[in-house]
Amino acid sequence: MSRAKGLVIVISGPSGVGKTTVAREVVKRMEGVFFSVSHTTRPPRGQEKHGRDYYFVSREEFLRMVEEGEFLEWAEVFGNLYGTSRRELEKKRERGDVLLDIDVQGALSVEKLFPQSIRIILFPPSLETLRERIDKRGDTPPEHVMKRLRKARWELSHYPHFTHIIVNEDLERTVDGVCSIIKGERLRLSRMEERARRILWEE
Ligand code: 5GP
Repeated sequence: MSRAKGLVIVISGPSGVGKTTVAREVVKRMEGVFFSVSHTTRPPRGQEKHGRDYYFVSREEFLRMVEEGEFLEWAEVFGNLYGTSRRELEKKRERGDVLLDIDVQGALSVEKLFPQSIRIILFPPSLETLRERIDKRGDTPPEHVMKRLRKARWELSHYPHFTHIIVNEDLERTVDGVCSIIKGERLRLSRMEERARRILWEE
């Protein structure tokens, strides 16, 4: 019997809003949700591991993949290239639901490719808290902070392209929110109908 393909779930929002922390926690807590590992040209940070956090590749390799149409979507974010490969998404969707942690440009591409996808945009409680978080992270020179905030406002203004908005005030509540959205989506008629019919018509 054919099984519905896994859900495509996007977590997006401006840089510094906490997407990666939320995405990682959701994957840890929910069975059947797999993280889509992106390719990037940026060097690894801290404890990041090739194949788990990103596939770290050279610019040449990334551009070759672009030429060969291997990416579903890709974008340049603050000078580095990031992309979701078709192979990665298909591989994870065969196992279950797939969670993408990508920027807003990427989320808009996913909307076109998978109109049925769940697209969650994380908002900061205020632009001021976002500024504080960017400052605290310490990887942005002060002269670039304003540029990041302008970009953040532009990104957040695309909220009508998303299916859900969560204001990330508290990690625990945000993660709970994302898990509830996924659980709700799994119970939709279109995903449950086959099972319902089996129960109804079982001899
Ligand atoms: P970071 O360098 O902090 O890990 O990520 C920078 C930004 O790139 C984040 O907003 C992250 O969500 C985004 N990003 C990561 N992977 C992808 C991807 O495959 N496609 C797109 N469009 N953005 C990505």
